[in-house]
Amino acid sequence: MTTESEEKISPPNFIRDIISNDISENKHDNIITRFPPEPNGYLHVGHAKSICLNFGIAEDFKGVCNLRFDDTNPEKEEQEYIDSIRQDVEWLGFHWETNPSASDYFDQLYSYATQLIKKGLAYVDSQNADDMRSNRGSLTEAGKNSPFRDRSIEENLQLFVDMKNDKYSDGEHALRAKIDMSSPNINMRDPVIYRIRHATHHNTGNKWCIYPMYDFTHCLSDAIEGITHSLCTLEFEDHRPLYDWFLDKLETPCHPQQIEFARLQLKYTLTSKRKLNQLVQENIVDAWDDPRMPTISGMRRRGYTAQSIRAFSEIIGVTKKDSTIEMGVLENCLREDLNKRAIRRMAVINPVKVIIENYPEDQEEMVTGKNHPQDPQFGTREIPFSREIYVEQDDFMEDAPRKFFRLSPGREVRLRFAYYVTCKEVIKNDDGSIREIICTYDPESKGGKSPDGRKVKGTIHWVSAKHATTASVRIYDRLFNISNPAKLDDFHNALNPDSLITLDNAKLEPSIETVRQPLAYQFERLGYFIADTHSTNETPIFNRTMSLRDSWAKIEKEQNNS
Ligand code: ATP
Ligand code: MG
Repeated sequence: MTTESEEKISPPNFIRDIISNDISENKHDNIITRFPPEPNGYLHVGHAKSICLNFGIAEDFKGVCNLRFDDTNPEKEEQEYIDSIRQDVEWLGFHWETNPSASDYFDQLYSYATQLIKKGLAYVDSQNADDMRSNRGSLTEAGKNSPFRDRSIEENLQLFVDMKNDKYSDGEHALRAKIDMSSPNINMRDPVIYRIRHATHHNTGNKWCIYPMYDFTHCLSDAIEGITHSLCTLEFEDHRPLYDWFLDKLETPCHPQQIEFARLQLKYTLTSKRKLNQLVQENIVDAWDDPRMPTISGMRRRGYTAQSIRAFSEIIGVTKKDSTIEMGVLENCLREDLNKRAIRRMAVINPVKVIIENYPEDQEEMVTGKNHPQDPQFGTREIPFSREIYVEQDDFMEDAPRKFFRLSPGREVRLRFAYYVTCKEVIKNDDGSIREIICTYDPESKGGKSPDGRKVKGTIHWVSAKHATTASVRIYDRLFNISNPAKLDDFHNALNPDSLITLDNAKLEPSIETVRQPLAYQFERLGYFIADTHSTNETPIFNRTMSLRDSWAKIEKEQNNS
């Protein structure tokens, strides 16, 4: 079977070029990157891009990448999210050397803030939130200095200690950097660096009632860890002057370089934890790992492989320009990977019964099926065959056009790995629906081989009725029926009502394992399927991971042409 390819270096991109250059100029002994999620939700495919970039660089340049929890909002962060993030990064196949949290640095951050006050570069502001906001100005208008801006260093130090020592209530004071209220960059207009928040933190408990803000925390955490290249998405470009300002003003162990790249946006889905959380909270999906979710855990449950997500991250590349990627690109990475590695099996998801009239009633036999059509290393298996089998309803048509090479009265087809059968007649229920199809078989055609040189165009899959396992199969489609749901204020009207269709009477070849396996199967002619994480031998449930072909590309083309 195909095994993992040997070590391989990712293609170049502008960030790798910067790092290579820094190395050739001896700027760093060791490259250190970090992936810094906030533990306020599950990771999604956008995060996968950042994980592959940061950990991939560390691997290729023989450096390290830290997994750092950026946990400065105690109300939103939870242990469940921390656990899921660790699991997802590991599942993608990456290893961290250290797994710190920004909250581990709260003491150091507090002392850095004190240093800023001592340098006259930070002050305690006692304006209320509304005044602070209105005095901040706008894109076209300079801000106004706070009336508290010129407090003495001593007074600021005392107030800050009192803030920390629980003397005030939320919102009464805030510590702000003293930069420039008329800066054209609003981030530089005396940003708040500490606020009072009486909340229990998942890591530090009730030790703190003041918490540092993101911009202050992030650059200093990077510096404390000796990060050389701090890679973040483009929306932080305007924050870079502030990132650099803190590091310039404070005596830190080093000054990491922030480099921004474009976020991954995928058509027909959302990559925002806040909105994904809304889907979960409103029960639009069943959990963060619902197989329709673009979360790493949802994709895993659906049957995506880590290899396909890593391949996808490489294909889309890293640039400075925002773009939205077609779902088909991601799906094709998965198809390519599974085509190589998935074991083939037969299953009938919309069954209709076929009775082979001339096959002895008490007889059954085994036919041999290849486990992979191209790769003989996968071997073969024995498949039971008997007088009553199931085939797909779609593989029968009563009044079929000439080019319908499947079952229709009078026509002959090949049952995969088994025999040629000829359709004789169809028996219907009172309501006109099909009860069973009567066929005859040619005993000389065993193995699907022509006994006399006569040709049969069509081959269909089947499952022996007596031996079949009955399962429920879930067919997934995009969650949204418009290509850019992220642009909507309210996405509810854009939800695809057919994003999940359940078929309750699928018939599986008996060799299919009904409890979760590491890799999806290919059900021949139908697509890739994997037992759901909740599937059991008593109640088998299969997820369709992916169809065999991209039917959406065609639908989109038609839509664009109409
Ligand atoms: P969200 O808006 O979904 O909460 P976020 O950026 O706030 O995303 P974080 O947990 O702060 O989420 O992100 C951790 C890291 O992942 C950050 O460095 C961030 O830039 C990166 N990241 C987040 N979303 C994407 C994306 N769509 N494409 C690439 N990188 C991303
Ligand atoms: Mg964030």
